[in-house]
Amino acid sequence: MKPLILIVEDEPSLVELLRYNLEKADFEVQTARDGDEALVAIDERRPDLVLLDWMLPMTSGLEVCRRIRRQPETRDLPIVMLTARGEEADRVRGLESGADDYVTKPFSPNELIARVRAVMRRSRPATAADKLEFADLSMDLVAHRVSRGDRRVHLGPTEFRLLRYLLEHPGRVFSREQLLNAVWGHDIYVEPRTVDVHIRRLRKAINGPDERDLIRTVRAAGYSLDLEDA
Ligand code: CA
Repeated sequence: MKPLILIVEDEPSLVELLRYNLEKADFEVQTARDGDEALVAIDERRPDLVLLDWMLPMTSGLEVCRRIRRQPETRDLPIVMLTARGEEADRVRGLESGADDYVTKPFSPNELIARVRAVMRRSRPATAADKLEFADLSMDLVAHRVSRGDRRVHLGPTEFRLLRYLLEHPGRVFSREQLLNAVWGHDIYVEPRTVDVHIRRLRKAINGPDERDLIRTVRAAGYSLDLEDA
């Protein structure tokens, strides 16, 4: 079955260009002209990835992205944002709102397709697995036990939840704000700096003296569970 991409864009010429190139690359394509249409389409038939334009009539792409992330059913839906903005601050805003990646207009169709494929490779379906693994790190959700290689890792409850969230989305970069919402909850006021403290504790617990650091600090953006160096 071909992977389904939902294009959310209001400019017909760009929709056609995207459709043409994605279909040529063996994707199935659906389109929506604005955020509301997009949310309905997602509800009716879950796409494998959403290509979301930042500049949309009425509801902005950023807001659509936030809404998709707020719903438990669509929380893990891969999103690539399309935008005319290339500023670092906008990139961070896009990632903070929950986009998995970002393509700046004008883009080459080949680059866009490469990004789409990369994001799809990275995202895993959210399953009710009993065990989460990344490199030699594993988390047994039933026994509530974490180990790295043969070594048992002891974590506090917050570090456990933080690691669980990162293990559920390997390779994805999360801002401090996103981690706060996911791990501490929307209603609790915690300073973003708190995330740094817990990441530090988590690193100390999971990384032995001669072991590779599995958490990547992404400058100006946040953290991810990653084998790439910062
Ligand atoms: Ca647009």
